[in-house]
Amino acid sequence: MKNIVHAFAGSPLDRAGVKRPDAAWIAEQAHSDAARFLPFVDLSAVIHAQDDAADRLLWLSGADLTGNNIATLEDALFLGLNEQNAARFAVSLDSAKDWTDLGRAMDLRTLAVNGTIDASELAIAGQAKSMLEWHKQHGFCARCGTADNVADGGYKRVCPKCERMHFPRVDPVAIMLVTRGDKCLLGRSPHFVPGMYSTLAGFMEPGESIEETVRREVMEESGISCGHVAYHSSQPWPFASSIMIGCIARATSDEINIDPAEIEDARWFDRDEIQSMRERKHPEELTIPFRFAIARHLIRAFLDGWEG
Ligand SMILES: [Zn+2]
Repeated sequence: MKNIVHAFAGSPLDRAGVKRPDAAWIAEQAHSDAARFLPFVDLSAVIHAQDDAADRLLWLSGADLTGNNIATLEDALFLGLNEQNAARFAVSLDSAKDWTDLGRAMDLRTLAVNGTIDASELAIAGQAKSMLEWHKQHGFCARCGTADNVADGGYKRVCPKCERMHFPRVDPVAIMLVTRGDKCLLGRSPHFVPGMYSTLAGFMEPGESIEETVRREVMEESGISCGHVAYHSSQPWPFASSIMIGCIARATSDEINIDPAEIEDARWFDRDEIQSMRERKHPEELTIPFRFAIARHLIRAFLDGWEG
C-alpha cells in the first residue's frame, strides 16, 4: 500500500521541539521580520479575500498585527519553522476590532470541502485551529484552578502555583470499515448530508486497545461482532482535536441491529454498489464521504480488495 497523506496531515513545518522551550528564542522569532502569523477569528481561518481562485491562507507580518491593533505578538502560538527557517505562528484576532479589510473568515470544514487550498496549507491551518481552540478552553490549571501560563510557544501550559504542566490534548477516535467477504458495512448518522453512508467511528476510552475500541463501537452501533482488526492509516482531524485511527475489521456475524441513539441506518453494501455510490450513479442517490475524509479512503481500500 502506498503511503497515504490524508487531508490535514503533511504539514511542512519543523515544530522545533528542542528550541521552543526557550522563551527568549520564541520572542525573538515572533519579532523577526521573517515571522508570519496565521489569523483566526472565532476559530475560523481568515483567508485571502479573492474568491475567484483557489483558497489561500493569509500570512500577516507582525507589523500587520500591531499596526492594525488586532492582536499582540505575545499572544501568538508558535506552529513551527518553514523550510527557510522562518517562524510561523497562529493568532486569534480580536473579533471586536475591524479586521474585515484583511480577508474573509472561513471555517476549516468549508476549506476542506472546497478542496482548492494547498494540502500543506490545510495541514498548517488544522494544527493552528486545534491549538487555538485548546488554549481558548484551558486558561486554568485542571489540578488547582489557578490561571496558568503559556509555555513552549504554546505547546504546553504551566501552572504558576502547583507547577503542573498541561499539554494540548489530542482525542483518539477509531474509524473502521467492517468487511464480510465481498460486502462492507456502512451506516449513516442523522447529521450526515442526505443519502451519505460512511464508516462507523467512535472515541477510544481509557484502558482500551484500538482493536477493542473498534469491536466495541461496531457492536454498539450495529450489533455486528468483529474478529481481526487491521490498521490502515490515520488522519489528524481538527474538530476539535482528534486523531482518526483508520482500521479495517472483519465481521464475524451478519445480522444488523442498529442503536437508533447513535445511527439511523446501517447496511451491507457490495463492491458494485459502492462503486456506483462513488461515481454518484446509485439508483437511490446514495453517496460516500468527500475525498478529504479518511472514511472515503478506507472504502476505497475495500474496493481495491482489502478485507482486513
Ligand atoms: Zn495548579
